[in-house]
Amino acid sequence: MKKEINWEERLSEEEYKILRLKGTEPPFSGQYDNFYEEGIYLCRGCGNSLFSSEDKFKSGSGWPSFRKPVREENISLQEDHSYGMVRTEVLCAVCEAHLGHYFEAETRHCINSLAMEFIPDEQAEEIEDVILNHSKEEIALIKSVLDQEGITYVIKNEGIQDLFGAGRIGTGVNQLVGEIKIAVKKKDYRLVMYLMENIL
Ligand SMILES: [Zn+2]
Repeated sequence: MKKEINWEERLSEEEYKILRLKGTEPPFSGQYDNFYEEGIYLCRGCGNSLFSSEDKFKSGSGWPSFRKPVREENISLQEDHSYGMVRTEVLCAVCEAHLGHYFEAETRHCINSLAMEFIPDEQAEEIEDVILNHSKEEIALIKSVLDQEGITYVIKNEGIQDLFGAGRIGTGVNQLVGEIKIAVKKKDYRLVMYLMENIL
């Protein structure tokens, strides 16, 4: 059950043109083109981890260039026939945002700065809490999605409360509401929030 996301509302006009309309920022214009700090690059749309500074290199192309993604499953490659060329489009595997192109001959993922958000290494591993108030089924679903996405999390408490027993009217599984507090790494926080919003 995927919800419709209002991307126009969520992204700036420039980001929207690239991520959702497959645009390209002008070369040498992006904030991460000539940028070599150590850290991780997340998808600006959903927070999915895309690339690491370890795999970034100076290509001279005018766009941030990476040898490989942090995890093959985090991006998807698709043949692109736009502008009379045959190219390979790079997409975010989670929110299907357009990120840039892959040039196989150069082993180069050529990515728009506007499609990414950088988190320095010293912040990436910081811990943030996410508090969820959902039914037992929804919490089980959340856990399975986090496992599937390879997100590290720690459950800090898990108090499932039976609201029927507490005098609420109604029966059935949806009346079982739990509060669960999970700790995730800062680099995964936005993705976790995105997944929550989209699966529930
Ligand atoms: Zn994404």
